[in-house]
Amino acid sequence: MARRKSPLYSLGGWLLLFLLLLGVTFPGLGLGPTSHDVRPGYGVSELRWLSDYLPALKGTPGDTPVYVMKGKKEGGVFLLLGGTHPDEIAGIMAAILAVERGNVSQGTVFVIPHANNSASRHNNGHWGHPELQWLEITTSFGERRHFHYGDRLTQPEDQVPDPKEFVQYPSGEKFPGYEARNLNRNYPGKPDGTLTQQVCFAILQLVEKERVDVVMDMHESGISSRMAYMLVCHPRALQIGAMAAMELEQDGISIKLETARKEFHGLSYRELGDRTGVYAFLMETPNPGQEPNIDHPDIIHDPRAPLNHRVYVQLKTIFALLENYNLVSPPERAIRVSFPFPLEKLDTEELGAFLR
Ligand SMILES: [Zn+2]
Repeated sequence: MARRKSPLYSLGGWLLLFLLLLGVTFPGLGLGPTSHDVRPGYGVSELRWLSDYLPALKGTPGDTPVYVMKGKKEGGVFLLLGGTHPDEIAGIMAAILAVERGNVSQGTVFVIPHANNSASRHNNGHWGHPELQWLEITTSFGERRHFHYGDRLTQPEDQVPDPKEFVQYPSGEKFPGYEARNLNRNYPGKPDGTLTQQVCFAILQLVEKERVDVVMDMHESGISSRMAYMLVCHPRALQIGAMAAMELEQDGISIKLETARKEFHGLSYRELGDRTGVYAFLMETPNPGQEPNIDHPDIIHDPRAPLNHRVYVQLKTIFALLENYNLVSPPERAIRVSFPFPLEKLDTEELGAFLR
Protein backbone atom coordinates (compact mmCIF):
# COMPACT_ATOMS: atom_id res chain seq x y z
CA MET A 1 0.00 0.00 0.00
CA ALA A 2 1.36 3.40 -0.98
CA ARG A 3 2.47 5.56 1.89
CA ARG A 4 0.27 8.58 2.29
CA LYS A 5 2.18 11.82 2.21
CA SER A 6 1.57 13.76 5.39
CA PRO A 7 1.05 17.54 5.15
CA LEU A 8 4.26 17.87 7.17
CA TYR A 9 6.20 15.93 4.50
CA SER A 10 5.22 18.30 1.72
CA LEU A 11 5.90 21.27 4.01
CA GLY A 12 9.46 19.86 4.41
CA GLY A 13 9.77 19.63 0.63
CA TRP A 14 8.78 23.26 0.22
CA LEU A 15 11.21 24.26 2.96
CA LEU A 16 14.02 22.38 1.19
CA LEU A 17 13.17 24.06 -2.12
CA PHE A 18 13.12 27.43 -0.37
CA LEU A 19 16.53 26.77 1.20
CA LEU A 20 17.95 25.68 -2.16
CA LEU A 21 16.68 28.89 -3.73
CA LEU A 22 18.25 30.81 -0.85
CA GLY A 23 21.52 29.03 -1.60
CA VAL A 24 21.57 30.60 -5.05
CA THR A 25 21.41 34.03 -3.45
CA PHE A 26 23.60 33.51 -0.41
CA PRO A 27 26.96 31.88 -1.10
CA GLY A 28 27.40 31.31 2.63
CA LEU A 29 25.24 28.21 2.28
CA GLY A 30 28.13 26.22 0.89
CA LEU A 31 28.06 26.74 -2.86
CA GLY A 32 31.70 27.83 -2.80
CA PRO A 33 33.36 30.26 -5.19
CA THR A 34 31.40 32.16 -7.84
CA SER A 35 31.61 30.56 -11.29
CA HIS A 36 32.00 32.41 -14.58
CA ASP A 37 31.45 31.86 -18.29
CA VAL A 38 34.98 30.96 -19.36
CA ARG A 39 35.43 28.48 -22.24
CA PRO A 40 38.99 27.12 -22.27
CA GLY A 41 40.47 26.63 -25.73
CA TYR A 42 43.19 24.41 -27.21
CA GLY A 43 45.94 26.29 -25.37
CA VAL A 44 44.77 25.22 -21.89
CA SER A 45 46.46 22.05 -20.67
CA GLU A 46 45.20 21.88 -17.08
CA LEU A 47 42.68 23.44 -14.72
CA ARG A 48 43.86 24.08 -11.20
CA TRP A 49 42.44 26.10 -8.32
CA LEU A 50 44.13 28.75 -6.25
CA SER A 51 43.42 26.52 -3.23
CA ASP A 52 45.99 24.06 -4.66
CA TYR A 53 48.51 26.59 -3.32
CA LEU A 54 46.70 27.21 0.00
CA PRO A 55 44.26 24.40 0.92
CA ALA A 56 42.52 26.65 3.49
CA LEU A 57 40.92 28.49 0.52
CA LYS A 58 39.09 25.40 -0.72
CA GLY A 59 35.30 25.85 -0.71
CA THR A 60 35.53 29.53 0.19
CA PRO A 61 34.37 32.45 -2.00
CA GLY A 62 38.05 33.33 -2.36
CA ASP A 63 38.95 30.22 -4.33
CA THR A 64 39.28 30.73 -8.07
CA PRO A 65 40.28 28.76 -11.19
CA VAL A 66 43.89 28.82 -12.37
CA TYR A 67 44.24 27.93 -16.07
CA VAL A 68 47.57 26.34 -16.97
CA MET A 69 48.81 26.76 -20.56
CA LYS A 70 51.92 24.67 -21.16
CA GLY A 71 53.99 25.07 -24.31
CA LYS A 72 55.57 22.10 -26.17
CA LYS A 73 59.01 23.56 -25.47
CA GLU A 74 60.29 24.05 -21.90
CA GLY A 75 60.85 27.66 -20.97
CA GLY A 76 60.07 30.41 -18.49
CA VAL A 77 56.87 30.98 -16.55
CA PHE A 78 54.37 33.84 -16.87
CA LEU A 79 51.50 34.60 -14.47
CA LEU A 80 48.60 36.71 -15.79
CA LEU A 81 46.22 38.19 -13.22
CA GLY A 82 42.82 39.66 -14.15
CA GLY A 83 40.15 40.78 -11.71
CA THR A 84 42.32 41.89 -8.80
CA HIS A 85 39.64 44.62 -8.86
CA PRO A 86 36.69 42.93 -10.63
CA ASP A 87 35.11 46.22 -11.74
CA GLU A 88 38.21 46.71 -13.92
CA ILE A 89 36.85 44.56 -16.69
CA ALA A 90 39.42 44.95 -19.49
CA GLY A 91 41.85 42.86 -17.42
CA ILE A 92 39.25 40.15 -16.84
CA MET A 93 38.28 40.05 -20.52
CA ALA A 94 41.94 40.02 -21.65
CA ALA A 95 42.57 37.06 -19.31
CA ILE A 96 39.45 35.23 -20.57
CA LEU A 97 40.51 35.84 -24.19
CA ALA A 98 43.95 34.38 -23.38
CA VAL A 99 42.31 31.25 -21.92
CA GLU A 100 39.86 30.87 -24.81
CA ARG A 101 42.09 31.66 -27.80
CA GLY A 102 45.71 31.95 -26.64
CA ASN A 103 48.49 29.53 -27.47
CA VAL A 104 51.85 28.98 -25.76
CA SER A 105 54.73 27.56 -27.83
CA GLN A 106 57.47 27.90 -25.19
CA GLY A 107 57.25 28.05 -21.41
CA THR A 108 54.17 27.93 -19.19
CA VAL A 109 51.48 30.55 -18.67
CA PHE A 110 49.22 30.56 -15.60
CA VAL A 111 46.06 32.64 -16.05
CA ILE A 112 43.78 33.70 -13.17
CA PRO A 113 40.92 35.72 -14.73
CA HIS A 114 39.22 36.43 -11.36
CA ALA A 115 42.00 36.99 -8.83
CA ASN A 116 39.57 38.33 -6.22
CA ASN A 117 36.66 36.00 -6.93
CA SER A 118 34.68 37.12 -3.87
CA ALA A 119 34.70 40.71 -5.17
CA SER A 120 33.60 39.53 -8.63
CA ARG A 121 30.17 38.37 -7.40
CA HIS A 122 28.49 41.77 -7.63
CA ASN A 123 29.18 45.49 -7.77
CA ASN A 124 28.41 47.49 -4.62
CA GLY A 125 28.94 50.78 -6.47
CA HIS A 126 32.39 51.78 -5.23
CA TRP A 127 32.61 54.30 -8.11
CA GLY A 128 28.95 55.38 -7.89
CA HIS A 129 27.47 53.05 -10.52
CA PRO A 130 25.81 50.12 -8.71
CA GLU A 131 23.61 49.62 -11.81
CA LEU A 132 26.61 48.08 -13.56
CA GLN A 133 26.31 44.38 -12.70
CA TRP A 134 26.84 42.51 -15.97
CA LEU A 135 28.39 43.07 -19.34
CA GLU A 136 26.76 41.50 -22.33
CA ILE A 137 28.90 40.62 -25.32
CA THR A 138 27.51 39.13 -28.55
CA THR A 139 29.79 36.58 -30.21
CA SER A 140 30.21 36.13 -33.96
CA PHE A 141 27.77 33.20 -33.66
CA GLY A 142 25.14 35.62 -32.39
CA GLU A 143 25.25 34.23 -28.84
CA ARG A 144 24.94 36.73 -26.01
CA ARG A 145 27.49 35.99 -23.33
CA HIS A 146 27.33 37.53 -19.87
CA PHE A 147 30.21 38.45 -17.59
CA HIS A 148 30.05 39.71 -14.02
CA TYR A 149 30.89 43.36 -13.43
CA GLY A 150 32.19 43.06 -9.88
CA ASP A 151 33.33 45.29 -7.10
CA ARG A 152 36.71 46.73 -6.15
CA LEU A 153 36.71 45.01 -2.76
CA THR A 154 36.10 41.54 -1.28
CA GLN A 155 32.35 41.21 -0.47
CA PRO A 156 31.81 42.34 3.14
CA GLU A 157 29.87 39.16 4.01
CA ASP A 158 32.88 37.01 3.04
CA GLN A 159 35.23 38.49 5.61
CA VAL A 160 35.31 39.58 9.26
CA PRO A 161 33.95 43.15 9.67
CA ASP A 162 36.36 45.90 8.58
CA PRO A 163 38.50 47.36 11.36
CA LYS A 164 38.21 51.12 12.03
CA GLU A 165 41.71 51.44 10.72
CA PHE A 166 43.41 48.82 8.57
CA VAL A 167 46.99 48.07 9.59
CA GLN A 168 48.77 46.53 6.60
CA TYR A 169 50.66 43.31 7.34
CA PRO A 170 53.61 43.21 7.83
CA SER A 171 54.53 46.86 7.04
CA GLY A 172 52.33 48.36 9.79
CA GLU A 173 51.23 51.11 7.35
CA LYS A 174 47.74 52.44 8.19
CA PHE A 175 44.78 52.82 5.79
CA PRO A 176 40.98 53.31 5.99
CA GLY A 177 39.28 50.14 7.33
CA TYR A 178 37.76 49.05 3.97
CA GLU A 179 41.28 48.58 2.54
CA ALA A 180 41.32 45.31 4.55
CA ARG A 181 39.25 43.98 1.60
CA ASN A 182 41.47 45.36 -1.18
CA LEU A 183 43.46 42.53 -2.79
CA ASN A 184 46.04 45.00 -4.03
CA ARG A 185 46.80 46.21 -0.53
CA ASN A 186 47.21 42.88 1.25
CA TYR A 187 50.32 41.31 -0.29
CA PRO A 188 52.29 39.30 0.83
CA GLY A 189 49.21 38.01 2.67
CA LYS A 190 48.92 35.56 5.52
CA PRO A 191 48.01 31.83 5.43
CA ASP A 192 45.73 32.16 8.49
CA GLY A 193 44.64 35.77 7.88
CA THR A 194 41.45 37.27 6.43
CA LEU A 195 40.07 35.89 3.15
CA THR A 196 41.79 38.73 1.24
CA GLN A 197 45.13 38.04 2.95
CA GLN A 198 44.75 34.32 2.20
CA VAL A 199 44.18 35.00 -1.52
CA CYS A 200 47.32 37.19 -1.60
CA PHE A 201 49.31 34.51 0.21
CA ALA A 202 48.15 31.79 -2.22
CA ILE A 203 49.18 33.92 -5.22
CA LEU A 204 52.62 34.48 -3.64
CA GLN A 205 52.87 30.70 -3.07
CA LEU A 206 52.08 30.09 -6.75
CA VAL A 207 54.79 32.58 -7.81
CA GLU A 208 57.36 30.86 -5.58
CA LYS A 209 56.41 27.24 -6.23
CA GLU A 210 56.06 27.56 -10.01
CA ARG A 211 59.21 29.72 -10.29
CA VAL A 212 57.31 32.49 -12.09
CA ASP A 213 59.60 34.78 -14.11
CA VAL A 214 57.12 37.49 -15.13
CA VAL A 215 53.82 38.58 -13.56
CA MET A 216 51.29 41.03 -15.00
CA ASP A 217 48.45 42.34 -12.81
CA MET A 218 45.85 43.98 -15.13
CA HIS A 219 43.93 46.97 -13.79
CA GLU A 220 41.81 49.91 -14.95
CA SER A 221 41.39 53.49 -13.76
CA GLY A 222 38.95 56.33 -14.48
CA ILE A 223 39.34 57.73 -18.01
CA SER A 224 40.52 61.12 -16.72
CA SER A 225 42.78 59.59 -14.07
CA ARG A 226 46.53 60.18 -14.19
CA MET A 227 46.86 56.37 -13.94
CA ALA A 228 45.17 55.71 -17.33
CA TYR A 229 47.60 54.01 -19.75
CA MET A 230 50.17 53.65 -16.97
CA LEU A 231 52.57 50.70 -16.79
CA VAL A 232 53.91 50.34 -13.27
CA CYS A 233 57.13 48.32 -12.95
CA HIS A 234 58.98 46.86 -10.00
CA PRO A 235 62.38 48.64 -9.99
CA ARG A 236 64.12 45.46 -11.17
CA ALA A 237 61.69 45.25 -14.11
CA LEU A 238 61.96 48.90 -15.18
CA GLN A 239 64.42 48.27 -18.01
CA ILE A 240 62.12 45.68 -19.61
CA GLY A 241 59.17 48.05 -19.09
CA ALA A 242 61.00 50.96 -20.74
CA MET A 243 61.99 48.89 -23.77
CA ALA A 244 58.39 47.64 -24.10
CA ALA A 245 57.04 51.22 -23.90
CA MET A 246 59.32 52.32 -26.77
CA GLU A 247 58.15 49.39 -28.88
CA LEU A 248 54.49 50.18 -28.13
CA GLU A 249 55.05 53.83 -29.11
CA GLN A 250 56.18 52.65 -32.55
CA ASP A 251 52.89 50.74 -32.82
CA GLY A 252 50.90 53.89 -31.97
CA ILE A 253 50.24 53.09 -28.30
CA SER A 254 51.49 55.73 -25.87
CA ILE A 255 51.86 54.49 -22.34
CA LYS A 256 53.38 56.15 -19.28
CA LEU A 257 55.90 54.44 -17.05
CA GLU A 258 56.08 54.48 -13.30
CA THR A 259 58.19 52.50 -10.90
CA ALA A 260 57.05 51.08 -7.57
CA ARG A 261 57.89 53.47 -4.76
CA LYS A 262 59.54 52.10 -1.63
CA GLU A 263 56.94 53.64 0.68
CA PHE A 264 53.96 51.89 -0.97
CA HIS A 265 53.16 48.57 0.70
CA GLY A 266 50.88 45.65 -0.01
CA LEU A 267 50.81 46.09 -3.82
CA SER A 268 51.30 43.08 -6.11
CA TYR A 269 54.22 44.45 -8.16
CA ARG A 270 55.99 45.76 -5.06
CA GLU A 271 55.65 42.73 -2.75
CA LEU A 272 55.88 39.93 -5.34
CA GLY A 273 58.91 41.67 -6.89
CA ASP A 274 60.61 42.21 -3.51
CA ARG A 275 59.97 38.71 -2.17
CA THR A 276 60.72 36.60 -5.27
CA GLY A 277 62.89 36.97 -8.36
CA VAL A 278 59.86 37.79 -10.54
CA TYR A 279 59.71 40.74 -12.96
CA ALA A 280 56.48 42.32 -11.73
CA PHE A 281 54.22 44.71 -13.70
CA LEU A 282 50.82 46.37 -13.34
CA MET A 283 48.96 47.89 -16.29
CA GLU A 284 46.08 50.42 -16.18
CA THR A 285 43.63 51.06 -19.03
CA PRO A 286 40.82 53.68 -18.80
CA ASN A 287 37.32 52.47 -17.83
CA PRO A 288 34.29 54.84 -18.10
CA GLY A 289 32.64 52.84 -15.27
CA GLN A 290 35.20 54.19 -12.81
CA GLU A 291 34.29 57.81 -13.57
CA PRO A 292 31.73 58.99 -10.95
CA ASN A 293 30.90 62.08 -13.09
CA ILE A 294 29.64 60.16 -16.12
CA ASP A 295 25.88 59.44 -16.06
CA HIS A 296 25.12 55.91 -17.24
CA PRO A 297 28.63 55.04 -18.40
CA ASP A 298 28.88 52.83 -21.47
CA ILE A 299 31.55 50.38 -20.34
CA ILE A 300 31.71 48.59 -23.70
CA HIS A 301 31.23 51.20 -26.43
CA ASP A 302 32.23 54.62 -25.00
CA PRO A 303 34.18 56.00 -28.01
CA ARG A 304 36.79 57.50 -25.68
CA ALA A 305 37.73 54.06 -24.37
CA PRO A 306 35.90 51.14 -26.02
CA LEU A 307 36.40 47.78 -24.32
CA ASN A 308 37.99 46.09 -27.37
CA HIS A 309 40.64 48.84 -27.48
CA ARG A 310 41.37 48.47 -23.75
CA VAL A 311 41.75 44.68 -24.08
CA TYR A 312 43.98 45.27 -27.13
CA VAL A 313 46.24 47.63 -25.15
CA GLN A 314 46.49 45.17 -22.23
CA LEU A 315 47.45 42.26 -24.48
CA LYS A 316 49.75 44.31 -26.72
CA THR A 317 51.60 45.50 -23.60
CA ILE A 318 52.02 41.91 -22.42
CA PHE A 319 53.41 40.85 -25.82
CA ALA A 320 55.89 43.76 -25.77
CA LEU A 321 56.97 42.92 -22.21
CA LEU A 322 57.46 39.22 -22.97
CA GLU A 323 59.44 39.99 -26.15
CA ASN A 324 61.79 42.24 -24.20
CA TYR A 325 61.96 39.83 -21.26
CA ASN A 326 63.11 37.18 -23.78
CA LEU A 327 65.90 39.52 -24.96
CA VAL A 328 67.43 39.85 -21.49
CA SER A 329 66.83 36.28 -20.26
CA PRO A 330 68.58 32.96 -20.94
CA PRO A 331 67.03 31.23 -24.01
CA GLU A 332 65.95 28.26 -21.88
CA ARG A 333 63.71 30.61 -19.84
CA ALA A 334 62.02 32.22 -22.87
CA ILE A 335 58.22 32.58 -22.95
CA ARG A 336 56.45 32.61 -26.35
CA VAL A 337 52.71 33.16 -26.72
CA SER A 338 50.45 33.84 -29.69
CA PHE A 339 46.86 34.26 -30.81
CA PRO A 340 45.38 32.73 -33.98
CA PHE A 341 44.54 36.26 -35.26
CA PRO A 342 46.57 39.46 -35.64
CA LEU A 343 46.30 41.29 -32.31
CA GLU A 344 45.69 44.57 -34.21
CA LYS A 345 42.26 43.27 -35.29
CA LEU A 346 41.18 43.60 -31.66
CA ASP A 347 41.60 47.35 -31.94
CA THR A 348 39.04 47.67 -34.74
CA GLU A 349 36.53 44.85 -34.16
CA GLU A 350 34.18 44.11 -31.27
CA LEU A 351 35.43 41.75 -28.59
CA GLY A 352 32.64 39.26 -29.36
CA ALA A 353 34.31 38.49 -32.71
CA PHE A 354 37.21 36.82 -30.85
CA LEU A 355 35.52 35.02 -27.96
CA ARG A 356 34.44 31.39 -28.31
ZN1 LIG B 1 42.77 48.34 -9.86
